[in-house]
Amino acid sequence: MPKADAIVPPAVIGFVGLGKMGLPMAGRLLAAGFAVHGFDPVADARAALAASGGVACATAAEAAAGAAAVITMLPDGDIVRSVMLGGATPVAAAMEPGAILIEMSSSAPLATRSLGADLAAVGLGIVDAPVSGGVKKAVAGTLSIMVGGAVDAIARVPAILAAMGAAVFETGGLGSAHAMKALNNYVSAAGLIAACEAVRIGADFGLDPAVMTDILNVSTGRNNTTENKLKAFILNEAYDSGFGLALMTKDIGIAADLATALDRPAPFSRTVAEFARRALDNLGPTADHTEVDRYLGRLKT
Ligand code: NAD
Repeated sequence: MPKADAIVPPAVIGFVGLGKMGLPMAGRLLAAGFAVHGFDPVADARAALAASGGVACATAAEAAAGAAAVITMLPDGDIVRSVMLGGATPVAAAMEPGAILIEMSSSAPLATRSLGADLAAVGLGIVDAPVSGGVKKAVAGTLSIMVGGAVDAIARVPAILAAMGAAVFETGGLGSAHAMKALNNYVSAAGLIAACEAVRIGADFGLDPAVMTDILNVSTGRNNTTENKLKAFILNEAYDSGFGLALMTKDIGIAADLATALDRPAPFSRTVAEFARRALDNLGPTADHTEVDRYLGRLKT
């Protein structure tokens, strides 16, 4: 039984950021009976939302006007902050009194806390609710969603999160879900780089990469990359998982910076962050994260 002020269909949801993840997530909200007013600077993304039954808006502020909740699914927290508070038509100024921001991007937790304080000062609520699972699970509506924030704010959004996710984990106060997301992605990135490096060393020695993958997957080296990425995206050189290397690099940096802010020595996260940064510089801003393997290949003299 939803709480009295819980947001349920057919409420209007403003959706800002209709990219690889945002567009299918908006589609799940529509399928659940919510009205979605969406904005993205990319015209094709707006057209795709309209084609699937949403309302394409000319600005983010227009998408937010009249909405019970606004979802941001943007590259990073700096962009979220500028969309919410900056420019000529800030979203925060367009939101209804008492409306809530559901910040679903993978953003930096300390910046999310400070955004929360700024929004509270103008009477707006916020939860951070980043997701795990990638494009495939966004399309299927089976994402894992972490959610942080005040208990009464979280109590308003379960129907919205359930439309997009199969599992929702409450992590604590505002920013805690963003911290958890960055730390998860750091661990995932470290596993990706280790697996790709090991397969390349093995191949140089004469091992078959496909056989290596099969053995890793029944051995203690098994991880998400060995199970779900090596054969699907890397050994076949498709490199088209849908998760950008720039985003992965940002996430590792958030985890490493969090350690610094907490005075926690975390040398391996810094090493992984520096490796990802060098790979990104080499491969360019549009590279898929699985292309760290291509970068490893280029290192061979
Ligand atoms: P994306 O680059 O495909 O989408 C981001 C969208 O934001 C783009 O369509 C872009 O045009 C739009 N945008 C940029 N600046 C904007 C602005 N000022 N106003 C409105 N829209 C703006 O990225 P994505 O893969 O959809 O990822 C979105 C977020 O989700 C990121 O924080 C990412 O780290 C996270 N994430 C991605 C995945 C994945 O597998 N792709 C998985 C989990 C989490």
